[in-house]
Amino acid sequence: MSQFISVFDMLKIGVGPSSSHTLGPWRAAIAWVKKLKETDLLDRLDKVEVDLYGSLSLTGKGHATDIAVLLGLSEADPEYIPIEDLFTIVDRINTQEELYFKGGKRIAFLKSAIIFNKEFLPFHSNGITFRGFSKNQEISTETYFSIGGGFIVQEDDNLEEEIEINKKNFPYPINRAIQLEEYCEKENLQISDIVLKNELELRTDSEIDAELHRIWDTMLESMYIGCHTEGRLPGGLNVKRRAFDTHRKLIKDTSYTNPKEWITAIRSTEVKFREILKWVSCFALSVNEVNAALGRVVTAPTNGSAGVIPAVLMYYLVIENHEADFKQIKKFLLVAGEIGSIFKKNATISAAMGGCQAEIGVSSAMAAGALTELLGGSAAQVLSAAEIAMEHHLGLTCDPIRGLVQVPCIERNSMGAIKAIHAAEIALETDPKECLVHLDKVIDTMWETAKDMHKNYKETSEGGLAIHVGLADC
Ligand code: SF4
Repeated sequence: MSQFISVFDMLKIGVGPSSSHTLGPWRAAIAWVKKLKETDLLDRLDKVEVDLYGSLSLTGKGHATDIAVLLGLSEADPEYIPIEDLFTIVDRINTQEELYFKGGKRIAFLKSAIIFNKEFLPFHSNGITFRGFSKNQEISTETYFSIGGGFIVQEDDNLEEEIEINKKNFPYPINRAIQLEEYCEKENLQISDIVLKNELELRTDSEIDAELHRIWDTMLESMYIGCHTEGRLPGGLNVKRRAFDTHRKLIKDTSYTNPKEWITAIRSTEVKFREILKWVSCFALSVNEVNAALGRVVTAPTNGSAGVIPAVLMYYLVIENHEADFKQIKKFLLVAGEIGSIFKKNATISAAMGGCQAEIGVSSAMAAGALTELLGGSAAQVLSAAEIAMEHHLGLTCDPIRGLVQVPCIERNSMGAIKAIHAAEIALETDPKECLVHLDKVIDTMWETAKDMHKNYKETSEGGLAIHVGLADC
């Protein structure tokens, strides 16, 4: 049976800087508190301890994992909570040394109750254990694993919800890319049509449109905020926000007052090759600067790689097709989401499992395929574009300096976006029958490469740039 992963599992609205190290632990904390309530243990609870393991511990400080845990224990919703409220909640916990649960319960809590353990749990490199106590007796112990893209699992999950979803009668079950290609050929449909038909098993067309609108609006807003915010990023590396200056030079004195008018304003600017490169880079940098500053972005498929898909879609809207509207945005997001889900089913989207090829490589493949469909490519060319984008990210390591999702992460998004556009153009000029490597083959190769990759290059900050760039260099 094919596992069904919705486009809305791949594109999730959340808060930066990391889907696996921020969003996942945040959701794990919410899930644990929910369990305490369901089992009537919350009333008895008087002490909490949280153990972070493996990569969550090694790069947890830089990825704001401890902050995410506090927000999750406070039951803040990462999708909807106003960004300005995040710091109020965390400051209140730290200054009053108390945790507040919804419904009014409060217990004493010290920052030192979040313990950073260096060892790895065998099941997955991103482990987190919550322990609840009552009168010094441990009354609840739950371990969760953050497996990338904000997804969390438990070792003994019976995956009831997933089984329920998979029992549904999806018209086009998809596990491998080749199946998707065959459906398109047989039905004479585009990839976005096939994906939509499957999604309609879970939501109505108007619900799908509403969610995709919300996702696009969040992407657009993160680009808009990033391009209009100057200064330096938090975390101690003193990284300058660069989207602001680049944007100011590109937009010149064109006037606009909101993100929609901004799109029209950008369309009116003169662009040659260098300006196109700068615009695409600027869009990608802007999202990841917002992400690094704990802002709201769309996990696509992760937070660290959240800039690639908006940058490529924005490129299409402001450079390639000035008439484009929601119809094209919808197609783009459906195709991108499906390609991401094939990677998740057959390899990984977690840097802690596969290095940066699993984040920037996957997001670039998603964007390349989606752009190719909008540019008129066949289904085979769409998949070929995704393959090309991944082929040239194979082996890319994850080595964020100080564990912050800043260097090399922010720039890497602009490289992933440009590579996606390049891959789409190569695929459009190529007869897919001439391609030696199919998308499924490159996904298998990526997974083998992930397994062979030394653990120092899997989001531990114990290799690569993370150890070769001294703090004096920063
Ligand atoms: S190096 Fe790549 S995978 Fe690692 S945190 Fe940065 S963007 Fe994510």
